[in-house]
Amino acid sequence: SPILIWLRRDLRLSDHPALHAACQSGRPVIPVFILDAQYDALAAAPKFRLGLGLEHHGAALEEKGSRLILRRNQSALDALRELIEQTGAKSVYWTRQYDPQAVARDSDVKSALKDEGIEAKSFGGHLMFEPWTVETKTGGYYKVYTPFWRSVKDRDVEAPLAAPAKITAPESWPASDLLADWNMGAAMKRGADVVRPFVQLGEKAAQSRLGAFLAHKVADYDTTRDLPGVDGTSCLSENLALGEISPNQCWHAGQRALHEGKSGAETFLKELVWREFAYHLMHHTPRILDRNWREEWEDFDWNEDERRAEVKAWKQGRTGIPFVDAAMREMYVTGRMHNRGRMIVASYLTKHLLCHWRIGQKWFEECLIDWDPASNAMGWQWSAGSGPDATPYFRVFNPVTQLDKFDKKRDYADRWIAEGHRNPHSDALSFYEAIPRQWNMTAQDSYPAPVVDVSDGRKRALSAYENRGF
Ligand code: FAD
Repeated sequence: SPILIWLRRDLRLSDHPALHAACQSGRPVIPVFILDAQYDALAAAPKFRLGLGLEHHGAALEEKGSRLILRRNQSALDALRELIEQTGAKSVYWTRQYDPQAVARDSDVKSALKDEGIEAKSFGGHLMFEPWTVETKTGGYYKVYTPFWRSVKDRDVEAPLAAPAKITAPESWPASDLLADWNMGAAMKRGADVVRPFVQLGEKAAQSRLGAFLAHKVADYDTTRDLPGVDGTSCLSENLALGEISPNQCWHAGQRALHEGKSGAETFLKELVWREFAYHLMHHTPRILDRNWREEWEDFDWNEDERRAEVKAWKQGRTGIPFVDAAMREMYVTGRMHNRGRMIVASYLTKHLLCHWRIGQKWFEECLIDWDPASNAMGWQWSAGSGPDATPYFRVFNPVTQLDKFDKKRDYADRWIAEGHRNPHSDALSFYEAIPRQWNMTAQDSYPAPVVDVSDGRKRALSAYENRGF
């Protein structure tokens, strides 16, 4: 009888423990993706990117003589039951996910299927270290990154599994929806034309980017990773988010680079562990996703009204602060933002503008093709000062001196800001193709004055914190 491989954020063939186990059994394998309530509710950019990922992975499975069966059903369990009935499958395997919604869904599915006599089995693969296996000496979870890093850095990470040589097809395939009918890009009007060229799609592209990054870039990563005008980071976050590459694969390749003496390799490994740390926190304190991790922040008087002019200016990349605007426009056009930019725009929104970090978290979710629930929530709470191991609340990034330091020659600012340039960069111009007409912006506008002056904003934030008694 066939085994259903219920795919979610694991769109790869290699280092896929669930697929590997299914193929090892010698039984027919039916890969399936279900557009359930959780996936249907994804925000614009992640849904658009998932659509591309599914199309690509479907083709990769076909090259192996297999297929990707698509089903839409608000309830994943109902969709699986239907498939079980139609195919005679006796087993369902999947890769674990860790956000609370998925955990609740998956544990319901597991117990219901088991009751119905079906083998329901979850596997690792999305993380290197299961969050419940990393414990402090006193048996708790880690709230600070550095001791977390120390406790995992010498652990054995399983060697990546090769892609299966063969995926046995069933005698007949069950019906599948057409991906085009799902309209995954519907909410992302700029997706196909503007964002698509910046997407690094699928397992092969991710593997070759990893190889090229470790061969040519990692040696300088310690310095270049902070320079938003330089292509110095791995850009693998979108692939990790959808499981087009596994963290184990990145880790082992990074370890090889480390042993070859490439400086920067250890920092890369540390970044991979930041991702693990975000999942560790989400597992142990799921409230990090929507409430202030530090409870004393719950009654801080954040601006929460998204209609405010300065929130609009922030989203639209016209705050009058070049580092902030460049980064916001980069995200709008490419679906990605350099890490330094993320820190700067998050600090500006939450500190200079005193807006609730949830506004920024939501806008990032709307725009990022590498959106990841755990890393996004941790990044926002880190920036706002409300999270564990956060930047101290009184540390307010100065986006003007930051630009002088990390974008000395203005490569980044010039790439994304057209105003004031006789010959603007083509990427800066593509921003105007991407935005809705109501934003009412053109390349010929003069560059706006700051919505909040850098030093006034800093003073205002510090006095708001002081009034709160922090
Ligand atoms: P590299 O520098 O090549 O790092 C390698 C990998 O390590 C990344 O792909 C990523 O998986 C991981 N990593 C690196 N930095 C971090 C970090 N600070 N936290 C967690 N993991 C990290 N990352 C996301 O993947 N999705 C998000 O939605 C997201 N939202 C963020 C929001 C804010 C406010 C901030 C400050 C950071 C956010 N990050 C997020 C983390 C980080 O900015 C990106 O992972 C990184 O910029 C991706 O680029 P890269 O793949 O070239 O990273």
